[in-house]
Amino acid sequence: MKAKTLLRETFARIVVYCGIAKATRSLLWRDRVAFLLYHDPDPALLDKHLEYLKKICDIIPIDQANVPGRGRPRAVITLDDGHARNELLLPVLIKHGVKPTIYLCSGIVGHARSYWWLDPATKNADLERLKRLTNRERLTELGARGYRQDGDTSPEYIGGLNAAQLEAMRPYVDFQSHTRFHPILTRCDDQECVDEIAGSKREVEELLGGSCEHFAYTNGNYGPREVAALKQAGYKTARTCDVGWNDEHTDPFRLKAFELPDDASVSWLAANLTGIPLFLRHLRLGGNWKGYKPQF
Ligand SMILES: [Zn+2]
Repeated sequence: MKAKTLLRETFARIVVYCGIAKATRSLLWRDRVAFLLYHDPDPALLDKHLEYLKKICDIIPIDQANVPGRGRPRAVITLDDGHARNELLLPVLIKHGVKPTIYLCSGIVGHARSYWWLDPATKNADLERLKRLTNRERLTELGARGYRQDGDTSPEYIGGLNAAQLEAMRPYVDFQSHTRFHPILTRCDDQECVDEIAGSKREVEELLGGSCEHFAYTNGNYGPREVAALKQAGYKTARTCDVGWNDEHTDPFRLKAFELPDDASVSWLAANLTGIPLFLRHLRLGGNWKGYKPQF
């Protein structure tokens, strides 16, 4: 085990065995809703997580998230992007009777395209620097290295679920929207922002035949313009990456979440659900207590 993983695991076990995880559940989580955020977890890992979660909370579909609680902690399982390997999770989801929400990039799934940060054009690139560029600057820079967001890629870089996978998963998964091509919305101009938000809703609805009412902000970045564009397009909720629990009083366009690494152990999951590791990460990235606004 690597030193960092070992440290993380030790910290997580302390949080669990000292009773902090349990105390947080009864004092803070209570009967509120925790949105768990995954990307591309292994089926065996998700299986263990769901096993644990079912012991400590009710796992509910997103449509029940704004219903007042009945005394038990609740969780919504969400996955971002629509990675092709998500299809492997199907037996685990069926086994546990859990219907997650997968927020899709509608310009990537169902196409032979790659997610920009997984494309060979970004090999050795500083992804955080690319995220800070305007959308046009980023696409120009990646374009010079051969990337086109609406262009086909070679088979090994196809990133999203294909049409057959989406069809197979449809009865067991709630597919919603995560923009078309996964730009950082706050780095888009007004027109790009509307195209990504309204266009994605339309494309998800065309692709899956249902209504698309829920959205997840790419990279967790959003502001008043994005919220207004979502309302204008007809969405009902949007999930952020801000840390905390939700209840019927939470702004539906600022739903809080607990982001989990795809290799999180069960102890790390339990520790994360206290909010402590994410708070410490916030401090490490230069934030302060004042700038930290989890909804407790
Ligand atoms: Zn994403």
